[in-house]
Amino acid sequence: MAAANGSGKGFEVPKVEVKFTKLFINGNFVDAVSGKTFGTRDPRTGDVIANIAEGDKADIDLAVKAAREAFDNGPWPRMTGYERGRILHKFADLIDQHIEELAILDTVDAGKLFAIGKARDIPGAAHLLRYYAGAADKIHGETLKMAQRMHGYTLKEPVGVVGLIVPWNYPTTMFFFKVGPALAAGCAVVVKPAEQTPLSALFYAHLAKEAGVPDGVLNVVPGLGPTAGAAVASHMDVDKLSFTGSTEVGRLVMKAAAESNLKPVSLELGGKSPIVVFDDADLDMAVNLVNFATYTNKGEICVAGTRIYVQEGIYDAFVKKAAELAKKSVVGDPFNPRVTQGPQVDKDQYEKVLKYIDIGMREGATLVTGGKACGDKGYYIEPTIFTDVKDDMSIAQDEIFGPVMALMKFKTVEEVIQKANNTRYGLAAGIVTKNIDIANTVSRSIRAGAIWINCYFAFDPDAPFGGYKMSGFGKDMGMDGLEKYLQTKTVVTPLYNTPWL
Ligand code: NAD
Repeated sequence: MAAANGSGKGFEVPKVEVKFTKLFINGNFVDAVSGKTFGTRDPRTGDVIANIAEGDKADIDLAVKAAREAFDNGPWPRMTGYERGRILHKFADLIDQHIEELAILDTVDAGKLFAIGKARDIPGAAHLLRYYAGAADKIHGETLKMAQRMHGYTLKEPVGVVGLIVPWNYPTTMFFFKVGPALAAGCAVVVKPAEQTPLSALFYAHLAKEAGVPDGVLNVVPGLGPTAGAAVASHMDVDKLSFTGSTEVGRLVMKAAAESNLKPVSLELGGKSPIVVFDDADLDMAVNLVNFATYTNKGEICVAGTRIYVQEGIYDAFVKKAAELAKKSVVGDPFNPRVTQGPQVDKDQYEKVLKYIDIGMREGATLVTGGKACGDKGYYIEPTIFTDVKDDMSIAQDEIFGPVMALMKFKTVEEVIQKANNTRYGLAAGIVTKNIDIANTVSRSIRAGAIWINCYFAFDPDAPFGGYKMSGFGKDMGMDGLEKYLQTKTVVTPLYNTPWL
């Protein structure tokens, strides 16, 4: 694979300007109560980009207080859905006006490809926000057909103050997966961005204010997980928690929610998604799809397709082509438009991926390509392929969250269904075949929340997304994603002298 990292030659690195470094509470940017800050680092170099106010329990208390006041007494839940939608549309327009600036922030914070940020992540967030802006005036309950002489109906009410804890791999997308529907529902929120990637979240807070989101409705408190994050999860005045992150931390936040005020929790957790490639597949298309599924965003995607089952008739040809394609990847500075893979988000993640590559070799898998760090600075790793992988190996079972593909051979449909389901996770799966019967059978047999047939990462605002099994519960996106920020109230009154029931 070509290495292009860090050169800066032949492409322009845009000016990085960090405008917002403080906590956003009750409509103002403020220092942390403790006065502490933490450095957010650029994965291209490991250098600190900016020092960010470090929120902890005291700041979460202030943010929740502001959100509580905004929800209990402020205009946001009391205005019409149409009015809320108008403000969210304005918020989306402001995002569109700052695409380049926002994409720069996600690139320096998370190592994401700048071109993809500009073309997809940032415009995609505005699209998602517009989807929920359009839904804000279509939230309604039902009229009930009661068995007694009663008039009954349901109201869909905002759930209240919501804690939103998000990960670093898609700082913009994860923010709007949660903020979009929660605000459309009429909730007030406290967002705890990941400590690795606080920059764009603070910029979005600024844009929300400019769009007219009232003070206290959207609070953004960067800080560490065990302090700020834990304070959100255990807060007695937070009515609902929506978390995206690892399965381990998901377990902790669910426990904290149970042990505090029993707040309902939605969890979007880890994955180890299988892709099943059948003999009848177009080989080049399948190889391209699998490459895309494993290496997009340097493998730092919860739904990355990394357990690849290829049917025996095309297995050898598939391995050869997959290795050739992986070698064509260009690993390097994510601002370089030629580059296809940027750095892992931070040193911890980089070391974790290299450790798994080592485990894969020690467990007896065959390294076909990649397997090494590259570049003279930053957290770059070669796109890696293992063959001779057994289902029980760590590299076939654990979420690596890096550019590592595990290739396995299978014979029959029944066998591969069993293998694909042999995981504690159930986030997504891919199927590559021209045979509609096989596609239907396998898609219904795999226990995962998203199945992509002859495509991958087919996300859409209207398509609910979330896991089965230990990948969590509760959906983001679609109308299911809005529903979780609503609660149903049933209202009943006796009926007298009505002409009919
Ligand atoms: P993580 O679980 O370490 O952190 C996620 C968030 O939780 C961060 O904001 C972190 O500060 C916070 N946190 C950490 N400890 C906490 C605690 N004790 N209490 C409360 N909050 C705490 O995950 P990560 O490393 O940021 O992200 C990677 C993980 O996220 C992967 O497992 C990936 O699969 C998952 N993910 C899932 C989805 C999905 O939709 N299912 C999407 C993206 C990422």
